[in-house]
Amino acid sequence: MGKYAIGVDLGGTKILAGVIDLKTGSVIGYSKKRTKKDRGSEIIVKKIIETIEKALFETDIKLADIDSIGIGAAGQVDRENGILIAAPNLDCYDVNLKQILEKEFNLPVYVGNDVEVATIGEMKFGSGQGFDNFVCVFVGTGIGSGIVLNGNIYNGATGTAGEIGHIIVETGGRHCGCGGAGCLEAYASRTAIEKRIKAYIKKGHKTIITKFLEEEATIRSKHLNKAVKEKDEVVQSCIDEAAGYLSSGLASVVNFYNPELIILGGGLIEAIDYFYDVATRKTVLKSLPTPAKGIKFAKARLGDFSGIIGAAMLKKYREK
Ligand SMILES: [Zn+2]
Repeated sequence: MGKYAIGVDLGGTKILAGVIDLKTGSVIGYSKKRTKKDRGSEIIVKKIIETIEKALFETDIKLADIDSIGIGAAGQVDRENGILIAAPNLDCYDVNLKQILEKEFNLPVYVGNDVEVATIGEMKFGSGQGFDNFVCVFVGTGIGSGIVLNGNIYNGATGTAGEIGHIIVETGGRHCGCGGAGCLEAYASRTAIEKRIKAYIKKGHKTIITKFLEEEATIRSKHLNKAVKEKDEVVQSCIDEAAGYLSSGLASVVNFYNPELIILGGGLIEAIDYFYDVATRKTVLKSLPTPAKGIKFAKARLGDFSGIIGAAMLKKYREK
C-alpha cells in the first residue's frame, strides 16, 4: 500500500481530482474543471485524464508514488467491473472507466457512486469516525444517502440502497424526477424550495429573493440563508415546509434503521443552519421514543472534498 492515492469526483457540472494522503485523508493538491457544455463519454474521459494530471502537477508527488485511482461518479455504476453505466447529466453511458484509466495511468482503478464515496470519506476522516452504524444524507439539488452498516457501506441487492430522496412523504403528491409522485426530493431539495419560492413570487408575494433573481436564474443556498436571517416570510415558510418534510423522511430512517448517528451534508445543510436545526429537532419529535433516544446528528465535515477523499480510499475500502 502506497502513501498516496488519487480521488476523482465526477459530478454533474464539474470534475474534481485530488492527491490524497491515505493515512491522514489530507488533500495534498487538487484540480477542478467545469463540465458546463461538455457532453458524451469521449470528452468527459479526456477531461478526467487532464484533471488527474493537473492535480498531480500541483504536488511534488510522482505517479510512481501513487497507489491507486478511485472515482466517485454522479450516476449509476457497476462497481465490480468499474463501468459508469449511466450519468445522464453528462450524457455518458456504458463507459469502462476502469479499463481506460488503468491503461492511461498504469494504476489500479476503482469506481463507485458519488454518495457512496462521500460516505466513505465521512466514515474514515469526517463526522462518522468512531461510528459503525449510521446514515449520511446529502441535501442539495437532489437528496441522496449512504448507509453504513457494521462499518461497511450497504449497497443493497442491486446496488442502489440509500435512495432516501425517493421515500414517499405525500401519497399522490408532487411529481418527482424519478417518474413517481410525492417523493421527499420533490419537497425538501434545493430545487423543490426554489420552485416554491418562484411560485410565491408569481402570485405577487414580496421577497428579497426577487432581487437575487435579477442577477441569476437559480436561487443559491447562501441567498436563502440571507433571506432567513432577514426574516423574509416567503423564504422562511418555504424552508420550514422543506425542513418538515425532510424530518418526516429522516424519522422514517430512524424508525426503520435505528442508526447511532445521522450525518447531514450538501449545499442546503452547509449554507443554512436554521434548516439543519429545524430538520433535526423535528426528526427527534417524529421518531419512535426508543430509536430517537440517544440518536446523534452531525454535519458532514469534509465539505466539497468528501468525494475526492472517499474516492481515494476506494481501493483500501474494497480490499478490506
Ligand atoms: Zn422520486
